[in-house]
Amino acid sequence: MNNLVVQKFGGTSVADVDKIKNVADAVIREKRNGNNVIVVVSAMGHTTDYLVKMAKDITDTPSPREMDMLLSTGEGISIALLAIALQSRGYDAVSLNAMQIGIHTEDKHMKARITDIEKARIEKELNAGKIVVVAGFQGVTQDGEITTLGRGGSDITAVALAAILNADRCDIYTDVDGVYTADPRIVPTAAKLDEISYEEMLELAQAGANVLHPRSVEAAKAHNVVLRVRSSFKLNDKGTLILGVDKMEINKAVTGIAVDLSQARIVVCSVPDRPGTAAKVFSALAKENISVDMIIQSYANKEHNTNDIAFTMNSDDAGVAIEILRSLKDELEFSEVEANFDIAKVSVVGAGMIGRPGIASKMFKALAEADINIKMIATSEIKISCLVDKSDTQKAIRILHDTFELSDGSIFEVTGGLPIS
Ligand code: ASP
Ligand code: MG
Repeated sequence: MNNLVVQKFGGTSVADVDKIKNVADAVIREKRNGNNVIVVVSAMGHTTDYLVKMAKDITDTPSPREMDMLLSTGEGISIALLAIALQSRGYDAVSLNAMQIGIHTEDKHMKARITDIEKARIEKELNAGKIVVVAGFQGVTQDGEITTLGRGGSDITAVALAAILNADRCDIYTDVDGVYTADPRIVPTAAKLDEISYEEMLELAQAGANVLHPRSVEAAKAHNVVLRVRSSFKLNDKGTLILGVDKMEINKAVTGIAVDLSQARIVVCSVPDRPGTAAKVFSALAKENISVDMIIQSYANKEHNTNDIAFTMNSDDAGVAIEILRSLKDELEFSEVEANFDIAKVSVVGAGMIGRPGIASKMFKALAEADINIKMIATSEIKISCLVDKSDTQKAIRILHDTFELSDGSIFEVTGGLPIS
């Protein structure tokens, strides 16, 4: 049996017909190397955004079922055009959508999870020597309803196919040439990483680097699928491998730096120090499906016997959160709710932190020497995050990049395409 390669191309890689021809070249290359090839594609360019906009121009509340019906059409266009491009070059190719394959999902419109994938149709086509072109992002429920996996979900389709068919490789082609130590637009000396672990990639993704859908990284980790993020415009570049930490050689404490500019900080001020207060605050937010990120409860003020409870969340949720909290004012007897949107979360991430003390102090010292005030701190096993003023973001990232010696000497030239943001 030949090796099986799954290739995934995002929207920018198939943005127009010329780019689709370019993708066909990349696919043919793998086929000519003797591999069986499955190609997963996203909708062309900004098609999905455009479809969303049309629906929103009709009503603010389109039904999720019809949204899935609408959004799933984007990928239908790209699979057919790519199959046509491959056929026109003399290669046998077939495009298949989620219904034809049997990519089954739960019954949840616009954010469904894949439950299982039928192998029979794909295997039949591969055995007949065909290149199989699969529509990313879409699925079908047991009742035959069309679903989508959530924005950016084509990555998940690719990883799920690679897992279920036991692919030898899963290459995610995109408009950046890999995963960087920091956003190269902010830090021109940022270096491309040869490899990164699933865990680090997840921390970076959650901290704002948007190269891969976080759920695709989780799925790759769960099924041990080695991913490669690479550029669809530089086919000879190796990109960045994403793999299990056990397979990596770790020689640095810090792998990369991420920034999240979309957070808001909320402080519930002077809450009486008694049991149950934090529980009430956070269960009220959870009930509205608002997830919080960093949390600090200050050491109780002995004189007044009160605490401040501060936390961060996505700024989109802050308006609702403030309303909910204000409605609890009488019950909880706090003085006021404060909100701050001019903040950024800067995180250093590295599997090499485990068992290496002193990383946090090094980070805090570097920020202090640059006169950057830290407003909040949070840590996980492989991440240290500091909340700073938004205006300090750029300075903070550059200083930390230097402090942890992440540059490889190369200078990144920004050429229009969006690197990790
Ligand atoms: N076309 C979908 C989107 O724009 C899925 C994807 O690009 O992965 O969200
Ligand atoms: Mg995408």
